[in-house]
Amino acid sequence: MVSRLVPTHIAAIDPYPPGKPIEELERELGITNSIKLASNENPLGPSPKAVAAIREKLGGLHRYPDGSGYYLRRRIAEKLKVPMEGVVLGNGSNEIIELVIRTFIRPGLEVVIPNPSFLVYQLAVQTVGGTVVSVPLKDFAIDLEGILGAITDRTRLIFVNNPNNPTGTVLSEEAFRNFFQKLPSDVVVVIDEAYIEFAPKGSTFDGLDFVSTQGPWVVTTRTFSKAYGLAGLRIGYGVMDPQLASFLHRVRQPFNVGTLAQTAALAALDDDEFLEKSRAVVHEGLKFLYQGLESLGVPYLRTSTNFFLIAVPVDAKKVYEAMLREGVIIRAMNAYGLDRYVRVNVGLPEENERFLRTFAKVLEQLQP
Ligand SMILES: *Cc1c(COP(=O)(O)O)cnc(C)c1O
Repeated sequence: MVSRLVPTHIAAIDPYPPGKPIEELERELGITNSIKLASNENPLGPSPKAVAAIREKLGGLHRYPDGSGYYLRRRIAEKLKVPMEGVVLGNGSNEIIELVIRTFIRPGLEVVIPNPSFLVYQLAVQTVGGTVVSVPLKDFAIDLEGILGAITDRTRLIFVNNPNNPTGTVLSEEAFRNFFQKLPSDVVVVIDEAYIEFAPKGSTFDGLDFVSTQGPWVVTTRTFSKAYGLAGLRIGYGVMDPQLASFLHRVRQPFNVGTLAQTAALAALDDDEFLEKSRAVVHEGLKFLYQGLESLGVPYLRTSTNFFLIAVPVDAKKVYEAMLREGVIIRAMNAYGLDRYVRVNVGLPEENERFLRTFAKVLEQLQP
């Protein structure tokens, strides 16, 4: 019965691997005080200004949110020097990705996606019955030439994740400009900049420089989940040509972003001190982790963001499980086709130390 009801393109989806709540994992394993370095979250917690702003709004929760996101969109537009009509808010930048896909893709149309990259792109395309055209990374970085070669007259969308999750690589401005000039004018390029705040200054391009009213159309997506520490609230945004935005508005729910999310994001956006601190904790943490891994003789990939890949000598799942039993949660990259890599995000100094200590112990246990 079910098999007749469920369309084959839905049944074929590999679900996004959800983690259990930390409390439940701890209960099952009989451990306490575990640390999570698996979801690229901000180790400093949320922006304190965001938390204070939310408190003021709790008494108004019986009201629907502002469905136009007026104040937040206006402030984002001011800060980025873009027209407010081109800013679309989402329930996480995930929702912007979904909106773009639901707006442009139907069965028979193609989306070019680097691989491995963020798993959500492919899941969202499969949901609407579109065709995923995978382009393998080259030396762990997005292969722009490969993407150009994969474009057909059925291509409507191209995803570029800069910096790329899970490899942490960025594209140079020159490489992207060169690529952009060769694109056909009737495609949309989504530049996912979820981690752009962490990229070292001058190391890469700003997706906003490519947003224009003519094709190829560009949508840049950004989030409050990472550098601003608001992952639990679910808020992100896209910047695009206002005409393109008008199509996304037709597709989205009228009240897609909650009041607390809008309020927190507005306060966080002007919390420069917190943003600077977040960058500093990542850059200092990376230096420490790189050094530690070098002294262990463990190969890793240098990153432009708050997480990085570490090569392991055995199946990554085994390393993940052994680390978990010690209370250190990291991510095995098997689902990304990288069976000999784990992904770890930078934590607080004491978390980074604990990670290194535990990792050294686990590798010694698992040595083939
Ligand atoms: C974390 C992340 C996002 C942000 O998702 P939100 O829905 O805004 O929390 C987007 N893209 C990539 C590649 C990410 O890793």
